[in-house]
Amino acid sequence: MQPDTIKAQELMRLLTQGLLAHAEEKTASELGNRSQYIGMSDIGKGVECMRAAVASKLGISAIPATTDVGELAHEDLVRVLGRQIILQRGHWQEYGIEKALTATGVKLVPQLEISIEHNGVTIKAHLDFTLVWGGKRPAVRILELKSNGRIPESLYASYEAQLYGQVGLLKSCWAQPCFSVPQTDLRQVTFPQAIKKMFGVDLPESSDNVDVEAWVLSISMSEVKPFGPYLPDMDMLEACMQTAVAIWRAAEDVRAGNLGLSDLDYCRGFHPLCDWCDVNGDCPKFQAASIPSDSACGLELEELAMLKERKAVLEERITDAEERIRQTYSLIGTQDWISTGAHRFRVTTVAGRKTLDRSPVVDKLASLIGDELKVQTALEQCEKEGKPHDRLYIGKINKPLKLAA
Ligand code: SF4
Repeated sequence: MQPDTIKAQELMRLLTQGLLAHAEEKTASELGNRSQYIGMSDIGKGVECMRAAVASKLGISAIPATTDVGELAHEDLVRVLGRQIILQRGHWQEYGIEKALTATGVKLVPQLEISIEHNGVTIKAHLDFTLVWGGKRPAVRILELKSNGRIPESLYASYEAQLYGQVGLLKSCWAQPCFSVPQTDLRQVTFPQAIKKMFGVDLPESSDNVDVEAWVLSISMSEVKPFGPYLPDMDMLEACMQTAVAIWRAAEDVRAGNLGLSDLDYCRGFHPLCDWCDVNGDCPKFQAASIPSDSACGLELEELAMLKERKAVLEERITDAEERIRQTYSLIGTQDWISTGAHRFRVTTVAGRKTLDRSPVVDKLASLIGDELKVQTALEQCEKEGKPHDRLYIGKINKPLKLAA
């Protein structure tokens, strides 16, 4: 190996070590010992996949200990570093967003903790940001930050469960000593007590007439999209609490040897969580024929997976380059072709695709015909279903890490 390559690898190793150490410290100082309670992210995961939620509660993880980084094979080092960057970029964004919100003068509590006991299980919510307004129309807004490579069209069920858990707990525990604020002496106080102490703002003793909402801010590297509002809903809160208890009990059963991880329910069908799951290597969902990786078919499948990864990287680069060129084109202010080398470029406006919005069509026809059922039936009779087709899914198996020779 070239000396420069070795130096580059050592630099990556150092960075990986630092990221892992920082993650450990941050989790311990802000979230405490996560094996002792069920958090909102556990509930979110449990709503999607009980097996994955219980595994993470049992501490089963593909993340190496900081002390093992020096021994990781290069390919694993790259994988661990990439994953840490994705996991931790949300914290970096959180820091910047906190500074930005604070600069507006808004009264903001970072990382407010709500802790309760429910059927013998400790359940905690850590709210990224809680914004408060007092006065005659008191209001509270919970903001949960989600860092996404690309902003999703709609919110994942796991995020929504977290939000319903947070906003439901804030509302129902309002006047109970369940609230703590990190890096202050505020421990186990009511919400109005915490706010009075922090900002001198009086809030009502009951949350009944307080305008409480929760929002998710989905942030990519260049976009922000709010999703919400999520309002306190006691049925949703109860569903979250039941999920928390189910995760806790299942983890106890697995620990005691009464259940195996693979006896637990898991999410069916294609699910984005599976690629990220630390226990996808032996998940019963994927227990099917296994073929040797050095067989012709095995090699072809590996090559296809590698090509798809390269395609994803290329597509991202193409999107970035297209965006840059579009912006440059508009700055130049021309409508003509730009020629360079063997190619020419031009930005034009193309008419949007026309689609039929079913809901107003039904309303319009129902008002003409006077019978919505007939309209619905007529539309269904005119629907055309495409032929079923095969789709090839490719997912990464999170294998145990290999130590360097
Ligand atoms: S691989 Fe998918 S289905 Fe299996 S435990 Fe993980 S998230 Fe659940």
